[in-house]
Amino acid sequence: MFDSHFHLTDPRLITLDEVVQKEHQGVEIGADFESLPIVFGFAKEHKNVYCTAGVHPAYADVYSANDFENFVAEHLSQPKFVAIGECGLDYHREDLPTREQQIAVFEHQIFLADRYHKPLVVHTRDAWEDTANVLIANRDKLKNGVLIHCMSYTAEQACFLINQLTGIDVYFAFGGHITYKSKSYLHDTLRSIPLNRILIETDAPYLAPVPKRGEVNLPQYINYTAQVMANVLGKTISEIESLTKENAYRFYKIKAAH
Ligand SMILES: [Zn+2]
Repeated sequence: MFDSHFHLTDPRLITLDEVVQKEHQGVEIGADFESLPIVFGFAKEHKNVYCTAGVHPAYADVYSANDFENFVAEHLSQPKFVAIGECGLDYHREDLPTREQQIAVFEHQIFLADRYHKPLVVHTRDAWEDTANVLIANRDKLKNGVLIHCMSYTAEQACFLINQLTGIDVYFAFGGHITYKSKSYLHDTLRSIPLNRILIETDAPYLAPVPKRGEVNLPQYINYTAQVMANVLGKTISEIESLTKENAYRFYKIKAAH
């Protein structure tokens, strides 16, 4: 399974079994500026792991546009560096930076994705309207593709975005919460998205799927999420595996390894 979004360098996963770490394939996501060197180092050391550079909206108040752009520019030659993000908007938690701060930092990372020809990984939680507005207003800077990670919105909202961004490659990644009863509307969302636009992710250590919900999410739990996606789409797990891997390679512009 190609896990399109995880944080294996998180302190909660530091004790993770070596074998699991070595076998896991996917993308280690940069979410705060301070940790980017660790994220990039991890990708370098793990054969099937790629990495991104991004600043999550939770850190929008300490974002330095200059420092971040310098980091990106200095690492362009690193072959494992596949995308900008995660970046975006999070209105779920009240203790986060202001909406204005979050939007400014989000827009700057959209600008950098365009400038340095990288696809964009978007985090959006309880911030549908502003996220859609920012993406639509900046559609000319999304030519390298955009991924809505941890998709948590309705089928209607997904289709609205796809239609508004015609000509842009918009992808959606589904994680553990598609296994939650309270999020069963996500089944419709998944069915409404073209098959060549669907990715799978763990977001480990966050969002463990049922039956591990509430625990630290481990990479191998991706199979619970894959099983639900397979049921919803009437496919086998191995069909989900090859479909989502192909899509992730296309989105992140990873050359197929043989
Ligand atoms: Zn994440």
